[in-house]
Amino acid sequence: MEIVKRFISYAKMDTQSDPNSLTFPSTSKQKELARLLLKELEQLKISAFKDEYGYLYGKVPKTVPNKPSIGFIAHMDTSFDAPGFPVKPRIIKNYDGSTIKLNETLSMDKETFPALKEVINDDLIVTDGNTLLGADNKAGIAIIMDFLQVLKESKLEHGDIYIAFTPDEEIGQGTKYFNYDFFKADFAYTVDGGKVGTVEYENFNAASAKVTFTGKSIHPGDAKNRLVNALQVAFKFNSMLPPFLDPANTENKEGFNHLTSASGTVEKAELNYIIRNHDYDLFLHQQRDFHKIKDYLNDYYGYQICEVEINESYLNMYEILKKDLTPIKLATQAIKNIGLTPTSPPIRGGTDGARLTYQGLPCPNLGTGGFNFHSRFEFLSINQMKKAVLILKEIVKIA
Ligand SMILES: [Zn+2]
Repeated sequence: MEIVKRFISYAKMDTQSDPNSLTFPSTSKQKELARLLLKELEQLKISAFKDEYGYLYGKVPKTVPNKPSIGFIAHMDTSFDAPGFPVKPRIIKNYDGSTIKLNETLSMDKETFPALKEVINDDLIVTDGNTLLGADNKAGIAIIMDFLQVLKESKLEHGDIYIAFTPDEEIGQGTKYFNYDFFKADFAYTVDGGKVGTVEYENFNAASAKVTFTGKSIHPGDAKNRLVNALQVAFKFNSMLPPFLDPANTENKEGFNHLTSASGTVEKAELNYIIRNHDYDLFLHQQRDFHKIKDYLNDYYGYQICEVEINESYLNMYEILKKDLTPIKLATQAIKNIGLTPTSPPIRGGTDGARLTYQGLPCPNLGTGGFNFHSRFEFLSINQMKKAVLILKEIVKIA
């Protein structure tokens, strides 16, 4: 099947995940895409299976010994940040750089969306302005499926190839039930990035902090020297955090402390933060700031007015990957071999690859040719998507 047809058929299926669901996968409609992909893998004569959690796995056995076994991973769910259905993909042939009218009220120009400057003369797939496109991550699925077809039709010598399509990545649960007993790749790639030719292998170290305040509530008429207002102390705490670590003041590899919610009364108040930094020592330093401010406030008020609870969410995969650069070097070389310039921007977020890497499966992330993820302005360059297939093939070839 042709890759564009593949992509469009996947994009039209509603596979949005749901952060408020109590089931796994969070929405059962994701399993319908797994069912379709299983059928397509069977048509390609690739042994594959679905499991009870909605994951789909496949394996192409090695044709020669002594080559590494490599995995490719994409996620089936789409983001809940924009409507996910009904997706009506539209193809724009040979994009000329002009403003793209998505519908009567919504358009997209290259000043507001500079990524459009990089895809002039490409064939694009855009939305009708009412939903996201789902290139995140159905472009990755289409690339992997097309790669498998190409691999089957070629005489390429290769080691074991493993495939996994996962549910619920967008709600941070994509690796929860990942089957490491089956997926015995030496290393893998998530095919879940933006511009083709990117190899992402540095993400944030991430933690969440819950800061609680216990005040002393007294009728304000009798409050002199007795009232301690938990809300006021919470404001004080927040104002003592370094202002240059506000995310609105950071970029590239700079970390941040981000206040995500605040609530409370005179008696009790709570602040929630996320803490992020690419550098592990600076990440720990930021956490120490939280504790130092807490100690100061407890000392100042003379009782335990403030408590800080910090939980680690995920860590920078580069801490592990730097011990063996093989997967990064291979991808970089493959990208050069097909005539592109590799880039490795630091990810200002996390990826499933980070969790997989820490579970013992080294897993950088490759670009797909999709842009403006999680929005109605999402689009996909068909030319870039096709190049991503060549990169996968080249990785397997030179490994
Ligand atoms: Zn994604």
